[in-house]
Amino acid sequence: MSIAHRPFYFRFFIPIDKLFPLLLINWAMKWALLFLLFPFVALGQNDPGDNPDCDILIKNGKIVDGTGNNWYYGNVAVKYGKIFKIGRDVNVPAKKTIDASGLIIAPGFIDVHTHLEGDEAKDPNATNFIMDGVTTCITGNCGSSNIDIEKYLQFIDSLKLSINVATLIGHNDVREKVMGRADRDATPREMQQMKDIVDKAMRDGAVGFSTGLIYIPGTYTKTPEIVALAKVAAKYNGVYTTHMRNEGDSVTEAINEALTIGREAKIPVEISHFKLSGQQNWGRSKETVPMIEAARKEGIEVTIDQYPYTASSTTISTLIPDEILAGTSDSVNARLQKPGVRKYVIDYMLQKLKKRKLKHFSYAVVAYYETDTSYDGKSIEQINLIRGKKHTAKDEAETVIDIVMHGGASAVFHGMSEDDIKRIMKYPFNMFASDASIRQFNVGFPHPRGYGTNARVLAEYVRQAHVISLEEAVRRMTSLPAQKFQLHDRGLLAEGYAADIVIFDENKVQDVSTYDHPHAYSVGFNYVIVNGVLTVENGKHLGARAGHALYGPGVSK
Ligand SMILES: [Zn+2]
Repeated sequence: MSIAHRPFYFRFFIPIDKLFPLLLINWAMKWALLFLLFPFVALGQNDPGDNPDCDILIKNGKIVDGTGNNWYYGNVAVKYGKIFKIGRDVNVPAKKTIDASGLIIAPGFIDVHTHLEGDEAKDPNATNFIMDGVTTCITGNCGSSNIDIEKYLQFIDSLKLSINVATLIGHNDVREKVMGRADRDATPREMQQMKDIVDKAMRDGAVGFSTGLIYIPGTYTKTPEIVALAKVAAKYNGVYTTHMRNEGDSVTEAINEALTIGREAKIPVEISHFKLSGQQNWGRSKETVPMIEAARKEGIEVTIDQYPYTASSTTISTLIPDEILAGTSDSVNARLQKPGVRKYVIDYMLQKLKKRKLKHFSYAVVAYYETDTSYDGKSIEQINLIRGKKHTAKDEAETVIDIVMHGGASAVFHGMSEDDIKRIMKYPFNMFASDASIRQFNVGFPHPRGYGTNARVLAEYVRQAHVISLEEAVRRMTSLPAQKFQLHDRGLLAEGYAADIVIFDENKVQDVSTYDHPHAYSVGFNYVIVNGVLTVENGKHLGARAGHALYGPGVSK
């Protein structure tokens, strides 16, 4: 057969005596190339497909992937900090295998409302969050954040926490930096300075802009100022989160203000710790939840979050009228010493108490009073009696003023109804959030939400009361917050996503922290993985600190 008549594939036929040297060269070149590329292959973390082995293989669990879809049996392989493979058929050799039989495998929880500022170094293990299944915190809420976001996120990375941290830029700190605690409108020049700070913060990696409109100086701010600053955050695709101006008698006006800001600044809105305070307002979630639904129908991208407790917690000075709290602490104290002002404040406080249908300040419990920690865990009513004062609301109001004048205190306020909590929880665009910081174990009498928010939702409201399903609760703790705050590679168990994973026992998960004994970690989270690093094993924090700063969409790097 001449070459011309051979079929095409024979035309390149090479006789065996010539083939052997060619094969030898080919073989030698392959090895030389492999040798040269070895360092890159070994260190290259981009293509886990090169190597079938993985770091962690989680087997036989019920996967609740964060989408809200029903659980299914399957395995999850983790490699180089990411989810490498997931599914029923996944079975690759692993450095570490976790048998998750009988357990739920879910994405790590994202706590959208925290206040870490100042507490980051107190426990870099962030034990209270990690033991509650939280792998990412969004801080800088209620208008309170660091001003220099670039520096703050670098600080987070230098500290090496066990959790990931993203931050908002807080309006109160921006305003205070520019205008102090002044009770007036901003001048055009001050307005520009505030805009510049927000602009830089967004470019430095803030995920959005937050307000705290019951706090000083946010409370002195009118809506147009907030709209103007929210527009800056919107330019960088940030969100607007708000501790609204009112969560009690004027809650509907406050919701309308938040929605106006969303509408005018064209920015997604997150209403923080959505609630109804004061007995006189119980049941009004029937009114407020439909307002959120109507706004969404209108096209405002509004979502809400809540903590699953009937008590709130904030500074005790929120009992005092805002206008009294302007300026420095010296000027506040000087004001409170004037008999006329004092009488005005006491009358205001007694009127508010009456509205709550209460005779004593028993609902307000001191969480931490640095000046005298023996008050921690006691109600204002109790403290007043300990101080040898008369058992009257008027004397109790005097006691509050005295605490404010001596450095102030944080407090827990018992004032919500269980029915409202459940009604708000049923709303599908509601997330869960602790509104807490990194807790220092055994310091003060803080609100239990800092230890038990997620465990409590899963135990009390999913397992016991069946308010929402397990899959729905997990969705609200994971993919919903990730979507809202644009953490694009978190919040789902899916290939290529960051390996933030919690493995828990749905029958045993439980919050342990209570108002009387707050310092207790949640139980039931057997394993927690952060960025692919095993952080909790058999319910014990291993001390791993694999969290890092997460940057918002406006980052200019
Ligand atoms: Zn708040």
